[in-house]
Amino acid sequence: MRFTEFKLTDEVLQGIEAMGFENASPVQELAIPHILNNKDLIVCAQTGTGKTAAFILPLMNKILENKMKGFTTLVLVPTRELAIQIDQQIEGFSYFVPISSLAVYGGGDSSVWGQQKKGLIEGADIVIATPGRMISHLNLGYVNCENIAHLVLDEADRMLDMGFFEDIMQIVKYLPEKRQNLMFSATMPPKIRELVAKILDDYEEINIAISKPAEGILQAAYMLYENQKIELINSLLEGKEDLQSIIIFSSTKSKVKEIYHSLKKHKHLVNSIHSDLEQSERENVLRDFKNRKFQILVATDIISRGIDIDSIDLVMNYDVPNDAEDYIHRVGRTARAKSEGVAITFITTNDQDSFLKIEKLIGSDIFKIPVPADLGEAPEYKPRTQKPRRFKFIRKRSKPRTSR
Ligand code: AMP
Repeated sequence: MRFTEFKLTDEVLQGIEAMGFENASPVQELAIPHILNNKDLIVCAQTGTGKTAAFILPLMNKILENKMKGFTTLVLVPTRELAIQIDQQIEGFSYFVPISSLAVYGGGDSSVWGQQKKGLIEGADIVIATPGRMISHLNLGYVNCENIAHLVLDEADRMLDMGFFEDIMQIVKYLPEKRQNLMFSATMPPKIRELVAKILDDYEEINIAISKPAEGILQAAYMLYENQKIELINSLLEGKEDLQSIIIFSSTKSKVKEIYHSLKKHKHLVNSIHSDLEQSERENVLRDFKNRKFQILVATDIISRGIDIDSIDLVMNYDVPNDAEDYIHRVGRTARAKSEGVAITFITTNDQDSFLKIEKLIGSDIFKIPVPADLGEAPEYKPRTQKPRRFKFIRKRSKPRTSR
């Protein structure tokens, strides 16, 4: 379906054209008419499906058509990076329209706080905020919430995972009762249902989450020992200068640092991102990566969800994510919006059971590539397919030792 077939104003259509979008993605096709129709909505969709534009475009349209003034739209997100990214998308779409947006997130120095406060007092149309920082501003009493007509909870499952449930409920108390509520979530655990029941009113439900990586991703894995991983990375990356963007994920920041140092030693153009970095440093690294200033980004899961970096050629999972859904998020960094990509995962004997869960979730076996012979022998992939049987141990009472 083409964007011109929606009931969108000419200015919004101009913005869409300027962004180079022609056809709506499935989530956009399903969500935009409901949002224009003022419906509450729960959308189950992973990142990479075009969900951001699915809510931004119709909400911008409503603000313009109804001549809404001041702070009318609050988007709550789990991370600063996602707040900044949505803010940037709005900037792109609103080139031809008088709509302002503001990202409000924690960290940064007092000048950042001051800018956020000023933007909130002046009444940016759309505020994209992390819950904790939003509450801090709301509690100080200078934010006028009277005009808020739209509340969006993006990556709602992630927000709950991060413990934002109470914060969200507290924020909702500041908002007018009559408003449109939109919720986006990659998964639908019972906690999300609870949030839906508390916040949404007479809602529609859209389910796009196929709990599978997008089409066009070539997935493969290596079964190996922990001490073979760094060497394998270096061997896989040798002569791969033609690949423009590579992300290597690891669950811990200590591993991220180790991989980073090893790749640097091998003269790769590499940088890293993890929670030890200041907010401004993280932003710089992400920006430089997007602008292709370096080839390899080594990262913790901090950026696995929601962050939109186009055309990653290769995603490597240095370790198997604990949560099978996280695998989908990590791998979802590649092959976004129809491009093609490769995702490679390293499996050790300790995490082969977790990997089997992933294969079950995506409904197919992932091909295991043999480790190159010069790295030595590697273990076999033998996950436990069933729960281990419990054996009853009957302890034999040992005979008292008799001294001879
Ligand atoms: P999202 O799922 O919102 O993170 O979007 C994933 C990527 O797809 C972003 O780079 C968007 O700019 C891009 N995108 C979203 N919708 C469309 C569309 N209809 N046509 C082309 N690209 C799109």
